Amino acid sequence: MVSLASLLIALAIEPGALPRQWRPSGPNCIEVPEWQVHEYNANLYIIRESGCTNYEKPFLYLFLGEGKALLQDTGAGETDVDRLIPSLLQQWAKKANKPVPPLLVVHSHSHGDHVSGDKKLAALPGVTVVAAKPEAIESALNMKGWPTQFGTIDLGGGRILDAIPIPGHDTADLALYDRQTGLLLTGDTLYPGRLYVRNFPAYVESINRLVEFTKDRPVAHVLGTHIEQSRTPFVDYKVRTIYQPDEAVLELSRGDLLELQAALAAMQGKPRRQELSRFTVFPRVSLP
Ligand SMILES: [Zn+2]
Ligand SMILES: [Zn+2]
Repeated sequence: MVSLASLLIALAIEPGALPRQWRPSGPNCIEVPEWQVHEYNANLYIIRESGCTNYEKPFLYLFLGEGKALLQDTGAGETDVDRLIPSLLQQWAKKANKPVPPLLVVHSHSHGDHVSGDKKLAALPGVTVVAAKPEAIESALNMKGWPTQFGTIDLGGGRILDAIPIPGHDTADLALYDRQTGLLLTGDTLYPGRLYVRNFPAYVESINRLVEFTKDRPVAHVLGTHIEQSRTPFVDYKVRTIYQPDEAVLELSRGDLLELQAALAAMQGKPRRQELSRFTVFPRVSLP
């Protein structure tokens, strides 16, 4: 049964739009810009790095609040992220008629394709980069008891995000839940593609934690940091594919999260590869 309180919360979330298809990287790379910037709504930009720059094609998320901006992830390989982000902050400030906000940078996790721009961004004024390590995250977000305790990030003007540790793909995986839009960011832990699981027991617990966390909160979309799946169920693009003209959409739902939880539970502690229609559970001992 849906309680009145949760219905009221659900009605209060701010809407946004996602593209029907992200711009493919190619077929001719010379015509493809390094970044695709998508305005989900006036206070949230979803940024995708081009596959021509790095085949991982990761997504970055820039949240704007009255007192602070928050960036999740800094991209893969050598990029001009240190020019892109300040210019987006300036654009936003001009449109909103507000001063350029200071920037806090956190990460979905510590892998190279999500942290490559850290050094360049950390060198800019007004930017704080939190290292993608559990201890650094705990002290920056004032949380204790990783991974079972949650933190919050207050961007001012009533915009608060919840930070939920979800290790398993990596050791420093951190989900973000934006109370304003109802978006749940799940990094490489859940996205339309191959879900590489390094620490299986931790991963199972993390997925359970996300299911529990979202039990009485509205989830508009579940958004990860890659797309490897095609539009055809069960079919993905091979590793290192640059041009994906028929790729799936980015957004998943809480239903997908429940499907993942059920698939993991059915493994009864014995990790194995399992293809589902929109993603594959892919246990691996070591990861690049
Ligand atoms: Zn990763
Ligand atoms: Zn990744």
